[in-house]
Parts: sequence; structure tokens; C-alpha cells
Amino acid sequence: MIRFENVTKRYRGTSRPALNNVDFEVQRGEFVFLVGASGSGKSSCLRLILREDAPSEGRVVVLGRDLRSLSNRKVPYFRRHIGSVFQDFRLLPNKTVFQNVAFTLQVIGASRGFIQQAVPEALALVGLDGKQKRMPHELSGGEQQRVAIARALVNRPQVLLADEPTGNLDPATSVDIMQLLARINAGGTTVVMATHEASFVDQMRRRVIELSNGDIVRDERHGGYGDISGVPKLAPQAEKGAASVAALTAVLELQREIVETGEIEPLVIDAAVDAAARAAYSATNENEAVDASAAAQDAGVDIAELGLADRLGLEKNDDEVGPTR
Ligand code: ADP
Ligand code: MG
Repeated sequence: MIRFENVTKRYRGTSRPALNNVDFEVQRGEFVFLVGASGSGKSSCLRLILREDAPSEGRVVVLGRDLRSLSNRKVPYFRRHIGSVFQDFRLLPNKTVFQNVAFTLQVIGASRGFIQQAVPEALALVGLDGKQKRMPHELSGGEQQRVAIARALVNRPQVLLADEPTGNLDPATSVDIMQLLARINAGGTTVVMATHEASFVDQMRRRVIELSNGDIVRDERHGGYGDISGVPKLAPQAEKGAASVAALTAVLELQREIVETGEIEPLVIDAAVDAAARAAYSATNENEAVDASAAAQDAGVDIAELGLADRLGLEKNDDEVGPTR
């Protein structure tokens, strides 16, 4: 799911590399702590995973994509699969809790109907139901981080990256946030959390990758750490075409609805189209996105009419795609 192959990162004007020949692989469904003192290279690793930066040497492969060969145009689509949260929350101060979480979806063109459904679900997941109308400054630090986590998850990313997410929180609140991340991981999301606070890490009994001055000095999976035996593994073959299967399921659901009710509820169409679109966003390459659109077409849905092609990024368009967040 995430693979670093002999990755070295040198920043301009520095003598020692920030990451030195770093080599590790994170499997689907794992919860991994990236630990190490300040300056050891944790944030550099996360930036490479998000393709905010490129290695000086070596290769980073994320969700089956070699990030060297990912064109700039595709980066925003790639990042839709990866949620991120940071120490300083990064909420929009003049937007409500609801609007902060909805924003991610609006940027990618999700329908109103989908947003109205997905945002409350995400807020409920992080335990913030009832606080939708609050402004960020009306929340505690822990609540603000929960909003940030809801925002990172609302698009159902496969991976959640958390860079010192408890760094601004008191110990009790930090434990709450850790438990929330563990719960999110139990739901199937791969979680990579960078932290310099080793104290929680050992209690969590998860895999720990420790960096020191850019070198991996520990990768501990034994003794209960990093036990992923309970996590269902998808064979590469089963993964292929998953997007089109999901798209087809969504469309069939729509058709069933039409047959049963005798009429088409606009909200239902929105939901099905969004599900298909999201399935296509989850496709690991352009062919799978095309598969998703073809599956919808086979099921009798007019892609052009629904604006699906546009949402899937299948329209021939050489314009630069804007950032997702
Ligand atoms: P951590 O997140 O573990 O504190 P970082 O990845 O932020 O570590 O930093 C690792 C090393 O790289 C540090 O020595 C830091 O000073 C250096 N570094 C990080 N970002 C840059 C940058 N943009 N330019 C130059 N040096 C950087
Ligand atoms: Mg850092």
C-alpha cells in the first residue's frame, strides 16, 4: 500500500540527508507509528507519501502508483485517496464545523445530496454530532482535531496520514484522539501516524518504525506489534476492476430504486452517481476509471447526461486540475 525503496531525501543547502536510504512497506489495513525525535525525518516521510515533495534517490510507491511517474495533473486525484491531519488542525476559521467538512467534497464537485448525507456521517464517526453549527473557535482543541479528522475521512480515503495529531493536546485528549484513530483503522483505513511522544506508542501495541537522523533504527512488528493477521487481504487481481464493480453496484442500486418506487428521486440519483464517481476516484489507474464509467453505461445510465464523465475526469481536458484541499 505504501512502499519506500531505498529513499534518500536531501534538502537544498543541507549537508546531511533528512532521510537516508529508508526502506519499508506498509500493508493495507495496518496502523503504523512513525516515531523519532524532532528533526528525525517523520514529516519528510509523510510529505513524500503525499507527493508534496520527491525523493532525491529511491522510489516511493503508494496505492500501486510509482509516484515518479504520476503526472502533476493526476496529483489532485491521487491525493483524494489520502486523508491528512496535522498538529495545528488547519480548519477554516470563518466556516462552521459542517462547512469545514463539506468543503473537501465541494471542491471535488460532490452533489448537495451527497454532502448532506456524508458530512453528518463523518461528524458522527468522530463523535461530534450536534456541533455542526459551531465555529472552530467555539470548540476545544480535541474537538477541533476531530473536525479535522472528519474532514480527512469524509471522502473515504484508503490511507490516513497524521502528523503529530496530538502535539497540541493535553494527555487525556490525546488518548481520546488515539482511540479514535485506532477505531478508524479498525474500520479498514490504513493509518500512518508520526509522533515524537513515545509514551502512547508502546501501549498501543502497533507497528513502530523509528527514525533517528533520517535512518530507520527500529521497525518493530513482533510481540503483537503490527499484527495484521486479522485484516482481510485483497489479492492484486481482486483489486483490479474493484472500481467498476463498485460503480456498477451503485448504478444497479439506482435501477432497483427506480423499479421499486416507479419514479426517480433526484436525491437517489445523486447518491448513486456520487457512489459511482467515488468508486472511479478509488480506481488505481485511468483504465479502472474508464471501466467504472463503462460499467455505469452498461447499466443504462447516460454518463454524459449525468455529468459523470466530467466528474470522473474523463473529459479530454488539458487544464491543470486544482488542488483538492
Ligand atoms: P520531523 O518531522 O521528524 O521533525 P522533518 O522531516 O521535518 O523531521 O525534518 C527532517 C530534517 O530535514 C531536519 O533536519 C529538518 O531541518 C530538515 N528539513 C525539513 N524540511 C526542510 C526543508 N524544506 N528544507 C531544508 N531542510 C529541511
Ligand atoms: Mg515533523
